This record gives sequence, structure tokens and C-alpha cells, in this order.
Amino acid sequence: MQTPVTAAGGLPRQAVGRRPVPFFTQARSFEQLWPLIERHAVEVLDDGKFSHGRQVERLEAALAEYTGARHVIGVNSGTDALVLLLRAAGLRPGDEVVVPAFSFVASASSVVLAGGRPVFADIDPVSYALDPAALAERLTGRTRFVMPVHLFSRLADLTAIGALAERHGLTVLEDSAEAIGMRQGGRHAGLFGAGGVLSFFPTKTLGAIGDAGAVLTDDPELAATVAALRHHGRFGRTIGNFPAINTSTALPGCNSKMDDLQAAVLLAKLTRLDADIARRAELAAGYDERLAGQPGVLRRPQVGGIEGQVFYVYLIEVERRDDLAAHLAGHGVETEVYYPSPLHLQPCFAELGHRVGDFPVAEAACTRTLALPLYPDLTEAEVDAVCALIRDFYAGGPA
Ligand SMILES: *Cc1c(COP(=O)(O)O)cnc(C)c1O
Repeated sequence: MQTPVTAAGGLPRQAVGRRPVPFFTQARSFEQLWPLIERHAVEVLDDGKFSHGRQVERLEAALAEYTGARHVIGVNSGTDALVLLLRAAGLRPGDEVVVPAFSFVASASSVVLAGGRPVFADIDPVSYALDPAALAERLTGRTRFVMPVHLFSRLADLTAIGALAERHGLTVLEDSAEAIGMRQGGRHAGLFGAGGVLSFFPTKTLGAIGDAGAVLTDDPELAATVAALRHHGRFGRTIGNFPAINTSTALPGCNSKMDDLQAAVLLAKLTRLDADIARRAELAAGYDERLAGQPGVLRRPQVGGIEGQVFYVYLIEVERRDDLAAHLAGHGVETEVYYPSPLHLQPCFAELGHRVGDFPVAEAACTRTLALPLYPDLTEAEVDAVCALIRDFYAGGPA
């Protein structure tokens, strides 16, 4: 018999014991949002334009307003956003792009897909982002880009990375896929260099009900090129507010257009984004309070006191990580490992010739980090239950 799954893809609700805590669900908030989503979705049906239609344009405008970006180009995923951004920024075959060794694989595979060569550098153990000192050591005559990645709840050190990039004539492109809402000095993630991206993968802070992404930039030429590349390389055809450069196919492009129904969902969810971000911060503070001083927990994220902080993921470092994850799973609490392998040891980058020990901070993070459930629908009681299970585990208590 098939296991029933909740509408939002959570765990089945079992009658036995406490209700399971899925790693992610949006069933409750979806109920509240449904009338608004339905209204936007009906407009899509009425328009009859299901790919890159009016809802996409409206979403781009709304995101430009939210982030302060002069141009937002909606695409079909965060990964394609990275590939198109790299291509539009002028990446040439063989150009080197410095990427942190600890990230989602798309941060580096996008470089390969765009024809470049990823060069890995180690991370800072507190922010989990590119360590500027490590970046400096990895520069060569072929380095043209640096891609800081903002992970989990805070920005990379953009001041130091920006200064280094300027000194060496490098273009900064941000993998800000996880960083919607993160700001510094009033500037939104993705806008500290030539451009950045957003991902609307369902579990992200602003998630669709399928795949979607966007490119953010203040540069009109870069924006026009990204807009063309997402649409078979065609300039000047019904692409939002970009000028018509010509109507022929100027570049070999992709089909990376955003789906209008995803844009409809995102437009509805965007109205709650700031409330969702505030709720995430509350829940992170709840974890922080309960896990302070907890034996076995080696590191908790800093909660509060960081400018423009947004909790996309609540990530802790723990002893016996895999055993703890199994203990939690045994009690119906789903967790995730971000990220199980550092990028330099992924088989797809084997030809770069790295070995264990090359980037020790990234490697250590991969063995110790565990992400706990964190989403607006999570309750304080669930946070309490998760922390009680962690306490039991390290006390060697009830199995
Ligand atoms: C989610 C994510 C991506 C890719 O986004 P998709 O929309 O899933 O393609 C890239 N980089 C990072 C750091 C991410 O977290």
C-alpha cells in the first residue's frame, strides 16, 4: 500500500505517538494563502500564457521593489540563473571562477556548464562562506570571477571579498540563491557585485511549488543578455521592459523561462515574506535558547546581532552527527545534511585533482553539520520536542 503524503509533501500523519515533524512543510500557510494564489492562478488561465507571461512580469517588478534591484529576470531555476549570469557576465572558456569548497553543487557545476573552470577555496568556520584569505591564495593569472555564496542565515564577508576583487580586477557574482531578504547597509544580497541569483526551490525562504529562480542585477546590459539567454538567445521580443536590440537570435541561448503558475504562487507568497522571515527568526531564537550549553552541540548559529540576517536554515554542528540524525528520524523528526560532501571531493569535479585534506574547514563542516526543521508552519512545541530528543540523545536517555 502507498504511504499517504500530505499536500505539501510532508510526512504522513500517523496515529501513533506524537505527530512527526517533517523537515519542511507549508500545508498550514498554504491553506491561508490559497484564495490569493487561486486568484493569481485564474489570471494565468484566463491569459492563456503559461510560460513567461504576465505573472512573470509582475513578479519581476515586485521582486525588483522588494530587493531594490534595477533588473530582475525570472527564470526556471536558481541553477539556470547562475549559468545565465556567468555567461552574460562574459565568462570565456577556461576562465577561472573561485568558488567556496562548501556549498550546494550548483555553485560550481554552473561554472562548468557556462564553460569556465571552478577553483575551490576554503571557508570561514563561523559564516561557512568563502574565506577571503583563502580566496587570495587561490588567485592565478586566469582568475576572472569570484562567486561568494551566502549560506543558511548570513552573508559572506562582502567587504573583504569586494576589496580583493577590486584590487585584482575580478568580477563578483553572488550565489545568493539562499539569501532572499539578507541585506547589508540597506543593500540586498546579489547586488554587491555585477549580479546575483535567487532560487525559489520549494524549501527556500520564498519557495514555489516547483522550480523557479531569478537573476538580480543593476546592470541593464547584463540584464538584457540574461533575458535573451533565457529565451533561446533572442533579444528584443516581449521580454518585460528590456529594449529591443534586434529580433534575430544573437546568442545560442537556453529555454530557461519561468513558468507563469510558479510566478502566480510566488506573487502570493511574497506578500507574506517579511512575516515569514520574522517567524523564522523567532523559531531560530527558540532553538538557540533550548540548545544553549547542550552537551554534544559544538556550534550554534549566531542568532541576532547580525545585520540583515535571515534564517533560511537552522544549522548546528554536533558530535556523532549521523547517530543523532538517526535518533531523531526514529522519533519522526526529519533533518537534512547541508552538505554531505565538500565540492572538491565530488566525483563530477574529479579532474581538478583534489584530495582529502585540501580544504579542511569545508571537510569538517561536512561531517558535523545538521539542519533542524525550520519553516513558518513549525510550532514552538515542535521546536521543544526536537530539542528534548537532542537532550535525550546526548544524555544517553530513552532510546
Ligand atoms: C538552492 C541553491 C541553488 C540552486 O537553486 P535551484 O533553484 O534548486 O536550481 C544554488 N546554490 C545554492 C547555494 C542553493 O542553496
